[in-house]
Amino acid sequence: AQLDTLDIVVLAVILVGTVAYFTKGTYWAVPTDPYASSLALANGAKAGKSRNIIEKMEETGKNCVVFYGSQTGTAEDYASRLAKEGASRFGLKTMVADLEDYEYENLDTFPEDKIVMFVLATYGEGEPTDNAVEFYEFIMSDDSSFSEGGSASDKPLGNLKYVTFGLGNNTYEHYNAMVRRVDGALTKLGATRIGAAGEGDDGAGTMEEDFLAWKEPMWASLMEAMQLEEREAVYEPVFEVAEKPEMDAEEDQVYLGEPNKNHLEGLQKGPFNAHNPFIAPIAESKELFSAVDRNCLHMEIDVSGSNLTYTTGDHIAVWPTNPGKEVDRFLAILGLTEKRHMVINIKGLDPTAKVPFPSPTTYDAAVRYQMEICAPVSRQFVSSLAQFAPNDTIKAEMAKMGGDKDYFHEKVSDLNLNLAQLLEIHSNGEPWTKVPFSILIEGLHKIQPRFYSISSSSMVQKDKISITAVVESIVKPGAPHVVKGVTTNYLLALKQKQHGVAEPDPHGLNYALTGPRNKYDGVHVPVHVRHSNFRLPSDPRNPIIMVGPGTGVAPFRAFVQERAHQARAGEEVGKTVLFFGCRKKVEDFLYENEWDTYKNDLGDKFELHVAFSRDGPQKVYVQHKLEENAEVIDKLLQQKAFFYVCGDAANMAREVNSLLIRIIAQQRGVPETKAEEIVKKMRASNQYQEDVW
Ligand code: FAD
Repeated sequence: AQLDTLDIVVLAVILVGTVAYFTKGTYWAVPTDPYASSLALANGAKAGKSRNIIEKMEETGKNCVVFYGSQTGTAEDYASRLAKEGASRFGLKTMVADLEDYEYENLDTFPEDKIVMFVLATYGEGEPTDNAVEFYEFIMSDDSSFSEGGSASDKPLGNLKYVTFGLGNNTYEHYNAMVRRVDGALTKLGATRIGAAGEGDDGAGTMEEDFLAWKEPMWASLMEAMQLEEREAVYEPVFEVAEKPEMDAEEDQVYLGEPNKNHLEGLQKGPFNAHNPFIAPIAESKELFSAVDRNCLHMEIDVSGSNLTYTTGDHIAVWPTNPGKEVDRFLAILGLTEKRHMVINIKGLDPTAKVPFPSPTTYDAAVRYQMEICAPVSRQFVSSLAQFAPNDTIKAEMAKMGGDKDYFHEKVSDLNLNLAQLLEIHSNGEPWTKVPFSILIEGLHKIQPRFYSISSSSMVQKDKISITAVVESIVKPGAPHVVKGVTTNYLLALKQKQHGVAEPDPHGLNYALTGPRNKYDGVHVPVHVRHSNFRLPSDPRNPIIMVGPGTGVAPFRAFVQERAHQARAGEEVGKTVLFFGCRKKVEDFLYENEWDTYKNDLGDKFELHVAFSRDGPQKVYVQHKLEENAEVIDKLLQQKAFFYVCGDAANMAREVNSLLIRIIAQQRGVPETKAEEIVKKMRASNQYQEDVW
């Protein structure tokens, strides 16, 4: 049988996973980086240490391991929260472990008095995260070959007790597939689950509450199963943050925001990847909107000389810097303003603790470049900070917010507050000097690169990557602050700088645009490329239908650019139909003039349907345009047109999916259940692809 694209993708994932497993990261680690090696030491495995989890737990005196399968860091964060809570509330000896750092053949000899927790994110179309591929394949294979068959019963995992929580998104078809499948497989192998298998839903925006609601009954069951006793939670720092007044922040070995040793030493050395960004020049930048209050950026990032390559449909990751305004607020409310340039050294107090960023560094650099300080605050974190409040009244208020879901919503979530804003409001600006810095490193995420669907074709401009990014600015009535998207406002400030605007920052956010030790001077931004499965058909004669309202048009600009290029070169190109939507023709019709150029090359092969939601008495969306063109769409689909959707995952992508089912049902005169099956098959064979966020 012929391999279809999905098979190839699956094989590629397996291959990447296998290579990742056998090379244990050596291909992409920055070998000379002491930060990388300290991480490796903490991880054990990467430094050639044991990949035997039982041995590791025995060596370090642990009785609970929390494994995570994480792609963006959320599952990892939940894993460390579980580990911390298990230790502080129940006296468990916990450790957190990356699934890719261990082997699983000996799980059948896992001691009965210990517990394993699995925090598992589902990625893409029901796939394991990159670090969980190996584990997943092992546990799912019918002939999981365990080392000894240690259990008395004929089920190999008869002794294993586990707890599990999944992170998923209900807008995807395979909602929480990982946790469901792994839970099923473990049970089948004879393991005993303690508590329910939890499921958090990012699609509904309830991940945090789902987690909190799941974990209380889970702890109750675990207490019973392991005969634990609850005690008053005592905070035990995970990291030692040692101040080094004898050191100067300007000393060469101090990290002032450099992501690794190479960058610290001023060497830009590849390979550039998720651990090692390329500091790329921004070759060009421009504003795409003509609205007064909204911005959308087009940028051309120059990757020549970096060895970074991309294929049309890939993503570029931008490494953000926090705005100076929020860095100042954060340091001030913690009473650290005076000490902001104090050198600090951070190390794990436990051999299994992973320090999330390199040190020695300074408070300023850690907060500006390493910690996600602007994000929404979690309720659990508010609870754990209560004990460090400046006085008892504030402590009681924090405990109340932490303990009462509705009150938390009213006082925190509904006001869009970040941590420093919350602390500032509740103490009336009085500094919270008792908060240990370790708890902030533990409680806030490491700052994450943001992804952008590349809006250029690699065939047309292989060394210049285009970005199309709408600048996030959220004004909420009644909220004391405007939420300013960290990365997009950083990019906006860079654009202003490039255009010589005297006050580059239109919102007084005060970004440190020249980067650590002025290493980003000129107009530079740290980036890496992430390869995706979002692909044009390999045969350009194949028709394509693209649905991309707003910035969802980004990869489709790349697709159309590529096809226009092919047509210019004399290749035969199939029908290329784009559905775009925006508010008003004169305001936010992205790339309005460019489409005409592409039309010149593609002629009647290119069709553009635009929906303006605020131009007439009726709101018109892409969905309406799809309905109007139902017949053509179905005809093209029957000719094996590829169908692409990009942009808003929560509403648009889901509605387009349902609409397509209706269109197929009506046009082909089949029941909706049948049409649903057809759409599912299209997805499975990659004829229907999504790039949504
Ligand atoms: P952030 O600071 O990350 O904030 C993002 C949002 O989080 C805010 O808008 C707000 O809703 C919420 N938020 C943040 N802080 C708070 C708070 N304190 N309280 C309450 N809510 C808060 N975007 C594009 O414009 N173009 C693209 O082509 C594109 N492609 C993408 C492709 C992929 C695969 C993915 C995953 C995402 C893509 N995105 C794209 C989105 C992009 O990655 C970023 O999420 C987006 O630009 C916002 O980043 P930011 O740092 O500016 O905002």
